[in-house]
Amino acid sequence: MIRTIGWGSRGRGLPLEPLELERRDPGPRDVVIDILFCGICHTDIHQVHDDWDSTEYPVVPGHEIVGRVRATGGGTGRFAVGDLVGVGCMVGSCGRCRSCEEGLEQYCRTGPILTCNGRDPDTGRTTMGGYSGAIVVDEAFVLSLPDGLAPAAAAPLLCAGVTVHSPLRHHGVGSGSRVGIIGVGGLGHLGIRIASAMGAHTVAFTTTPAKARDALALGASRAVVTTEEGALDDLADGFDLLLSTIGTPHDINPFLPLLRRDGSYVLLGSLEPTPPVVGALLAMPRRSITASLIGGIAETQETLDFCAEHGITADVETIRVQDVGTAFERTVAKDVRYRFVIDMSSLTEGR
Ligand SMILES: [Zn+2]
Ligand SMILES: [Zn+2]
Repeated sequence: MIRTIGWGSRGRGLPLEPLELERRDPGPRDVVIDILFCGICHTDIHQVHDDWDSTEYPVVPGHEIVGRVRATGGGTGRFAVGDLVGVGCMVGSCGRCRSCEEGLEQYCRTGPILTCNGRDPDTGRTTMGGYSGAIVVDEAFVLSLPDGLAPAAAAPLLCAGVTVHSPLRHHGVGSGSRVGIIGVGGLGHLGIRIASAMGAHTVAFTTTPAKARDALALGASRAVVTTEEGALDDLADGFDLLLSTIGTPHDINPFLPLLRRDGSYVLLGSLEPTPPVVGALLAMPRRSITASLIGGIAETQETLDFCAEHGITADVETIRVQDVGTAFERTVAKDVRYRFVIDMSSLTEGR
């Protein structure tokens, strides 16, 4: 067993604290990773608070992991000691279903093995995530961090980045596409950067005037403050794709007229029931509402490579692990521009 320290919660309502963790000894296909940085995703907060009634305690969150290879089990030799690598939301999947065969492990028929609060079929134990010193991962679920990506600022690409990149790719966005990014936060700020870098005419939608100014600096051609009277009036029939990064149920109807024929409104942040949608706004002219969940391993590598090529990382505020509680509160209050990343070297402070 490999011993390390995690930062997690022992039960519902209990604060995060240091926990002793054991990682499995590496098998031939495993990579042992010393974790350098881990991003804070809103999902981490939902898991710690058991908002979805699915948390098994103790829980150690974290699925935007950047680290350095400490050892390998041999494997295919894809990774060597000292390599900078990433681990995202998944550490395994069945490998046999149609989605797995097509590299879309996030849609694995039996469900992918999530990096945190998932079930490891080999040990039967709950998976423990990246708020920790080290992790052991099947090399098929380890990403190469390309040269030129700053490790801390690259960490959010492993969940937030691929979550926006995957639907942009799936819907064929490229030069000349017209894309709207609804919500300027962890997902949205990367959505603006990536869609712009793909050559799309990119418009940001936000309720916060200060974030509208940020959106222009991030590369948006235009930023719309949706709470202003008549803000959407001149935008009808203007978009091929709208990515909604709003994390809660919201009224989609005001946005549907913005889509051109065959345009799609993609839900990325909200999995709850949506308020009723007016069918006529979909029928005329043949618009769709769809959704998308993170991205497969090949897509995640593609996201990292694309971002390295275009010099894209997240805007991050790096914190010590001891300050995660405050960071959770500030994330809920939307008081972060635009992602917290934990510097894991703080894990051994005072020990
Ligand atoms: Zn996430
Ligand atoms: Zn599968």
